[in-house]
Amino acid sequence: MHCIDGVGGIMEGRNKALKFIEDVTINAEEVQKRVLSEILSRSANAEYLQRNGLNGCTDRETFKKVMPVVSYEDLKPDIERIANGDTSAILCSQPISEFLTSSGTSAGERKLMPTIEEELGRRSLLYSLLMPVMSQFVPGSDKGKGMYFLFIKSEAKTQGGLVARPVLTSYYKSSHFKDRRSDLYNNYTSPNETILCLDSYQSMYSQLLCGLCQSKEVLRVGAVFASGFIRAIQFLEKHWSLLCSDIRTGTVDSKITDASVREAVLKILKPNYKLADFIEAECSKGSWKGIITRLWPNTKYIDVIVTGTMSQYIPTLDYYSNSLPLVCTMYASSECYFGINLNPLSKPSKVSYTLIPTMAYFEFLPVNRKNGLTGSISEPASLNDNEKQELVDLVNVKLGQDYELVVTTYAGLYRYRVGDILRVAGFKNKAPQFNFICRKNVVLSIDSDKTDEVELQNAVQNAANQLLPFEASLTEYTSYADTSSIPGHYVLYWEIKVNDATLIPPSVFEDCCFAVEESLNSVYRQGRVWDKSIGPLEIKIVENGTFDKLMDFALNQGASINQYKTPRCVKYVPIVELLNSRVISSYFSPKCPRWTQGHKQWSTQN
Ligand code: AMP
Repeated sequence: MHCIDGVGGIMEGRNKALKFIEDVTINAEEVQKRVLSEILSRSANAEYLQRNGLNGCTDRETFKKVMPVVSYEDLKPDIERIANGDTSAILCSQPISEFLTSSGTSAGERKLMPTIEEELGRRSLLYSLLMPVMSQFVPGSDKGKGMYFLFIKSEAKTQGGLVARPVLTSYYKSSHFKDRRSDLYNNYTSPNETILCLDSYQSMYSQLLCGLCQSKEVLRVGAVFASGFIRAIQFLEKHWSLLCSDIRTGTVDSKITDASVREAVLKILKPNYKLADFIEAECSKGSWKGIITRLWPNTKYIDVIVTGTMSQYIPTLDYYSNSLPLVCTMYASSECYFGINLNPLSKPSKVSYTLIPTMAYFEFLPVNRKNGLTGSISEPASLNDNEKQELVDLVNVKLGQDYELVVTTYAGLYRYRVGDILRVAGFKNKAPQFNFICRKNVVLSIDSDKTDEVELQNAVQNAANQLLPFEASLTEYTSYADTSSIPGHYVLYWEIKVNDATLIPPSVFEDCCFAVEESLNSVYRQGRVWDKSIGPLEIKIVENGTFDKLMDFALNQGASINQYKTPRCVKYVPIVELLNSRVISSYFSPKCPRWTQGHKQWSTQN
């Protein structure tokens, strides 16, 4: 398929991409200045900028002086106007093309991030840098195919008629992805039709089928997040026998009813009894250790994000892959795509992302104890003037210091707090490279769900009310994201005060599990109901005195008695072990919580 010209084209594209990275990182300061002035001049007439008194100024000094540093809640009234159909230039002078639904929670629902058409180009640009960087470290990775499990999710429409959907759904459905240049960097085992199939079973099945029948050509495997990739392997564990029979006969199982998917798969699938026998033999061996290297023997690395909360999946990935390199290529969000990993073979714990200065105008709020960003309930929502002055520009961040990321985007976000905490790990020319430290306040996460402390507290409180008729009450609790089995699930450790525990029937605790799930945000509930990426929530009742022991443990480790607070989420293995050693009984949520496609304020599309 690729002649010399093709390879020449690839080399040219690769050199261009690498030169681009060099240029924008050397000139990071100038690029940032230009980006800000471009954003401000283009949207000079936008109501939001006028309202804040920018008066058409495009310089950094005035911008920093007059513009507030904001969070989603501050923008919600403006965003709601756009969602309800006001097409005037509210945040941005360019027309809002759609809303991207972000998983960071806003009072239990997805956030709606307005975006504009040209942002797709910026996202494409970031993607186009990934393989040129990779090819410097893994020779030959530009040959062969990538087996990537990519999925779309359902869409909704706002009252004003704008589509609302996750950023990746928007990207995969765009011509930037669908009509991407067919070169060796973009050569995936999954045909577009299988990625663009909304039915998650059919999409997963057909992508695995195509991945298996092209197994010899596969050089890299992956998904966006580690959780998605592991779900694919787990799907294979359940369905390999059906997949093998399709490979043996060259036909597609009747459960795959989507005509375009069937047609696309049949273009690839040829009867191959030898391959089917081989896969069957491997999958029916007792152990699934190293299954990835066994079934896809030429795989050089796994391309998945395992930084942040996804690091909990590293041991499982190591097990399935016999410790193939785990490669985290990029750092992005619905608000903006931020940066890439220029050293993709670095260990997950060492991964740093270089923010690409053309993507947005970046500022950094130093994180210190005063604005106590890691997990405090009482963090003030808005910054005072002094704190506003503390914001640092991209090229001025300090090595080793932690910052909260603040962005100003072409799509109409100005000094917007993304909610991520980053640490400066080094520099590429003038552009800093950041370790992803954590998402502010998020305590529990299994897949794309992000549950913060306040939300957990409310959910637990709602549920614990069910104990009152039994003269019992909740005295302490903490939580744990258990990913030892797939799908992972939330575990709550409860210590309760009760006169006679035998009077409480197990169904009461099961109802409590369910009540917590019902109170959690829609992204969690979607994970439980639709994506099936989160298992039933579990409550473990622990012996009286367990939380005192937990405190003793923390004090022994050097915590101060005055400042000790029960952690609302635990991760440290000895603490989890301590809790588990004192469990009296455990209960699971008996059914799925309520969840409907779309958003309660939007009408669903069909
Ligand atoms: P969303 O807007 O729902 O797509 O979520 C974006 C968020 O996902 C970011 O703000 C981060 O908190 C997290 N995220 C994205 N990329 C990475 C990464 N490479 N490592 C760790 N967390 C990430």
